[in-house]
Amino acid sequence: GRSSDALPSGPNQFSKADLEELDARLKGASGFLKQRRRDMNRRGGGQQAQSAAQTGGKVEVAEPITIKGLSSATGIKTGDIIKYLFTQKKVMATVNSAIDTEAAMEVALEYDIELVVKEQETAEQRVQKQFADREAVDVKPRPAVVTILGHVDHGKTSLLDRIRAADVAAHEDGGITQHIGAYRVTVEGSDSSKKSVVFLDTPGHEAFTTMRARGAKMTDIAVIVVAADDGVMPQTIESISHAQAAEVPVIVALNKTDLPQATEDNIQKIYGQLAEHGLNPVPWGGETEVVKTSAQTGDGITDLIELIDLQAEVMELTADYGGPARGTVIEAEMQAGRGSVARVLIQDGQVKVGDFISIGRSFGRVRDMTDDRDRRIKDAGPATPLELSGIDEIPDAGDRLYVTDSLKEAENIASQIREDERNRELASQTKVTLDNFAATVAAGGVKELRVVLKCDVQGSVETLNKSLAELGNDEVAVRVIHSAVGGITESDVLLADASDAIVVGFHVVATPAVREIAESRSVDVRLYRVIYEAIDEVKLALEGMLAPEKSEVDSGTAEVKQVFKIGGVGNIAGCLVTDGAMRRDELCKVIRDGVIVTADRKLSSLRHVKDEAKEVQVGTECGIRIEGFEDLKPGDQIVCYRVEEIKRKLD
Ligand code: GDP
Repeated sequence: GRSSDALPSGPNQFSKADLEELDARLKGASGFLKQRRRDMNRRGGGQQAQSAAQTGGKVEVAEPITIKGLSSATGIKTGDIIKYLFTQKKVMATVNSAIDTEAAMEVALEYDIELVVKEQETAEQRVQKQFADREAVDVKPRPAVVTILGHVDHGKTSLLDRIRAADVAAHEDGGITQHIGAYRVTVEGSDSSKKSVVFLDTPGHEAFTTMRARGAKMTDIAVIVVAADDGVMPQTIESISHAQAAEVPVIVALNKTDLPQATEDNIQKIYGQLAEHGLNPVPWGGETEVVKTSAQTGDGITDLIELIDLQAEVMELTADYGGPARGTVIEAEMQAGRGSVARVLIQDGQVKVGDFISIGRSFGRVRDMTDDRDRRIKDAGPATPLELSGIDEIPDAGDRLYVTDSLKEAENIASQIREDERNRELASQTKVTLDNFAATVAAGGVKELRVVLKCDVQGSVETLNKSLAELGNDEVAVRVIHSAVGGITESDVLLADASDAIVVGFHVVATPAVREIAESRSVDVRLYRVIYEAIDEVKLALEGMLAPEKSEVDSGTAEVKQVFKIGGVGNIAGCLVTDGAMRRDELCKVIRDGVIVTADRKLSSLRHVKDEAKEVQVGTECGIRIEGFEDLKPGDQIVCYRVEEIKRKLD
């Protein structure tokens, strides 16, 4: 019947003790774990040795921190940690879950414990550190490592062939015969001194950027080939973007200068095109060296090598020629009769047949080594490309090689890397996307939204380039790292991947194959047909990143005195408003023993005496029902609040 909905009426009769208890509770609500600690102190007082949870102070823990580990180090109950994570951090965790260091520190702080976290080093970090910290044995200048980039048919392969042919050692031992991903040439300079350069044998920016995406920075200098009869073309521009994104100095080889089209007029035109793309040539007073070459006649090859050598000198490229070796994988494959082989570039130190090595996920003992002239070698030092066997698995291009003290150590590194790979597969990669950009920035990450821009026509490239660059303010900005006319290519996706950028396409498409690559690398590709939509979406992402100021403002607290079960309706709580005012249209949370047991709930009923009320003031009794929450108990506090959000705008 209707009357059963009503609350018991009558004057309030709360004892002084009631109010005191209420007061204590309210004070405790500020840090529920502190309250828990006080409870524990009260209960456990003096019966056993006090834990840090009871006394506070400093506690040391090692990463990774599990809930179990944190509990046993500090004495905080696992259940309390889990509850804290759930209510305060909205993280579901189990006893064996690893939690991030910051969360662990927060939990500890609630108990006045200062966590001293010892970062766990991976075996690879340990060996990296060993190599970084080791005493230099024999530091000397080293040859530069060069990658040749440029538009198709502009002569990359022909130039590499020419350079190989110019190798002075070619006459002695038959020259470079073996394709092992890289080779070292020594060329006699104009002053008849010998200059060595290592060329990576995979021309093209795809390979270059794939390596960079894997964190391998092997290339010291990029040579960009431009055919004198063709000028700067789309892949030239791509190459420039890739080299600039990698922050590698560029030397331009102006090739095919033997052709009649290589007129002074045309060359000046190409200088203009280069300058337009950020490579202002030295003859124009800029900084970019341009060498005129011909792969046909061999003209300019020596000049090119000398310039590379000069650049290497300016860069003060050095290596330690002593101690155990460190290097990077260029390629790897399975060979019949030899097992896994890796083609590597040694970057520091010495490697010998019989050495223990770790290479990415693989490890073993060097069985044999071959150089770029197909000669068996017993040892090798810096700037030496070689192929080696004796490892248990095929590593990836870009993996690091280390010579270790023991087989066990090599195995440790490999198995840790294998485990990391598994974990990384499990946890989806976090890449910058338009949607998560704000969160990435809020987490202290990037402040710059990098964009690879592809459009149908040059006019759109210019408009979007300009409009996007104008977005942002002194806190956040858009940086277009590459823009061009044309569909979205694999190269665009690779560049975005390596640079943590998104790809924006205007009136262009990405083929299914390219989309697949983007998906597998978690690169955000956005396609638009209306220019304002493109600008608006990027702007929205930037604004989202200007962290909206969000805060909960409490307006009232009521304490549950009694709970009535009412047939067909559910539970209704008889409460007293102890602070402020309860408001029907606001959200509420329920606090029990200092713990938020539920939050972001709506009131389905707020009654004063028998009537539904919009607001009930402090000191007044009321009846409360919470939508979808039946678990109210006497002693619970219901807090009403509103969320205030101030969204910041650009402009
Ligand atoms: P890649 O695609 O950049 O590796 O270009 P290639 O090295 O395959 O060269 C493309 C074409 O241009 C081939 O037919 C070469 O013979 C020709 N070529 C390369 N360099 C020169 C040069 O300096 N002069 C002339 N005349 N032709 C060249």
